[in-house]
Amino acid sequence: MTLQNPAMNHDFEKVGALLRQARRVLFITGAGVSAESGIPTFRGATAAFADGLTEDGLAFEEVLSIETLQRNPALSWKYLFKLEQSIRGRAPNAAHRAMAVLQSPGRDIFVATQNIDELHQRAGSRNVFELHGNLRRIICLQCKYTKYWETYASLPLPPCCPLCQSGLRPEVVLYGESLPPAVLAAFSQEQDRGFDLVFSVGTTSLFLYVIEPVLAAARRGVPVVEVNPDITPVSGLADFRFAGPAGGTLAKLAAQLGI
Ligand code: NAD
Ligand code: ZN
Repeated sequence: MTLQNPAMNHDFEKVGALLRQARRVLFITGAGVSAESGIPTFRGATAAFADGLTEDGLAFEEVLSIETLQRNPALSWKYLFKLEQSIRGRAPNAAHRAMAVLQSPGRDIFVATQNIDELHQRAGSRNVFELHGNLRRIICLQCKYTKYWETYASLPLPPCCPLCQSGLRPEVVLYGESLPPAVLAAFSQEQDRGFDLVFSVGTTSLFLYVIEPVLAAARRGVPVVEVNPDITPVSGLADFRFAGPAGGTLAKLAAQLGI
C-alpha cells in the first residue's frame, strides 16, 4: 500500500498534523457523508433521482417546493415520506463517528451540513449547523404546534395538526425557501471567529453558502481539504484532495491522531 500510493499516505500524515494543531475545524458536509449509512444521494452514482424526475413526472425540486406543499400537500408529503423512509433506522457511519471523536477540549469541531438525517448528532457531534433543517421536527402551518417524529411510518398522509386541523410540515428547507435565519446567524458568528482548517466532505457544493466558507478559507490562507470520490466546484481550491469514500478516509485521518 505504501509503495503503491506514497503521495496519498503522505497527505494523510500532513492533514493529520494540521488536525493535531488545529483549534477550530469546520466540516462542510453533504449527502455523500451519509451514503455509507445506506442513504442515497440525489445525484451521482447511488442517486435516488438520477434523471431528475419523480415517478409523477415532475422534477424533485417541484414536488418538494413550498408552493406544492401549500397547493397540493398530498403530493409533497408523498415525497417527504420517501425521504423519511430513506433515513429511517439508518445509523451513523465511520465518517460521522470520525468527526465526533475529533472533538476534544482543545479542538472545537463545527459541522455545517446540508443533510437532514441527524446522523452527525447521533454520532455525538455537538456543534452542528443544520443548513437544510431537520426532517423529524414537525410544525403546523398555522399554529404553534410542534412535535418531534422519530418516524413517519404510521402517519395518515397528508397529516393534519391535532390542535387546529391545518396542514403540517417538517422543519426542512423546501425548494423556494431561504435557509433558517437562526442557524445562518449562529454559523456566521463562528465563521467570523475563523477556522484553522476547513473540510468539504461528500457535497457537490452547488450552493453559494457551501462554497463561500471554502472561498473564505482559501482567501485567508486556511488549508482546505476535500473528501469526495468525484471532482466538484471546490476541488480546485483544495490544498488536499482525498478521492475516496468519506468513512474510510476520515477514519484514517482520525487514526493519525491516535483516535
Ligand atoms: P450533494 O450535492 O451533496 O452530492 C452528493 C455528493 O456526495 C457528490 O459530490 C458525490 O460525489 C459525493 N459522494 C457520494 N458518495 C460518497 C462517499 N461515500 N463519500 C464521500 N462523498 C461521496 O447532494 P445531492 O445528493 O445532490 O442532494 C441535494 C441536496 O439534498 C443536498 O442538500 C443534500 O445534502 C440533500 N440530501 C440529504 C440527504 C441526507 O440527509 N442524508 C440525502 C440526499 C440528499
Ligand atoms: Zn395547528
